[in-house]
Amino acid sequence: MLFFLKFQRIIKGKEKMIVTYLGHASFKIECGEKVVFIDPWLSGPTSPLKVEDVEKADVVMVTHDHGDHGYGEAIEICKKTGAYFVAINELGLQAKSEGIENAHTLNIGGSVAIDDIKVTLVHAFHSCGIGAPTGFIVKLPCGTVYHPGDTGIFSDMELFGKMYGIDLLMIPIGSYYVCGPQEAAWATKLVKPKVVIPMHYNTFPVIEQDPGEFEALVGKMISEVKVETMNPGDSRKFKF
Ligand code: ZN
Repeated sequence: MLFFLKFQRIIKGKEKMIVTYLGHASFKIECGEKVVFIDPWLSGPTSPLKVEDVEKADVVMVTHDHGDHGYGEAIEICKKTGAYFVAINELGLQAKSEGIENAHTLNIGGSVAIDDIKVTLVHAFHSCGIGAPTGFIVKLPCGTVYHPGDTGIFSDMELFGKMYGIDLLMIPIGSYYVCGPQEAAWATKLVKPKVVIPMHYNTFPVIEQDPGEFEALVGKMISEVKVETMNPGDSRKFKF
């Protein structure tokens, strides 16, 4: 039976990844039975999903402790579902002190495997209150995702692309606190993913942006990358 299932998987290739944009920098990623949340700011003004609506989660990651990245909601989701919490050491220890026994306390460059989900913590250029700001590279059986958190552009992104082979990149385009369209397009060129989703814009006035500007720049600079601009609540299926 096991052989048959493995054989079937070889024939069918990778399973589809279902990505739901929850607004701002918040994503739900489904791969087979597995459900992963990154920066679940479900109390944010653009989130179509509330903590009460979350029925299943396996891993919940938070890039840094700024209020618009959903640390509080992550704790609630983990308490409710028994999901693993993953963040930088100091934020993971904070989660443990709030009763999350399944908290992983990684640091930059380190990885943890939670069943068939491998999470690697990477640096980000930003600020925060607890620990340091981070990004995540998440290797799922359906593909590899890079969520850089809140950050400016940095040249190590090119190394991440080469080392990890990124299928899907989420990139902030809102400017002011993070990359704007120009920096985000150059970051996309460095990472060379198959698909890029713009994020962290149009949530509040200072990060108002036209995603069309980002789309046009990527089209000009690295046309082989597909831009998937999503509205909060949209889901897309990807086969990588
Ligand atoms: Zn931030």
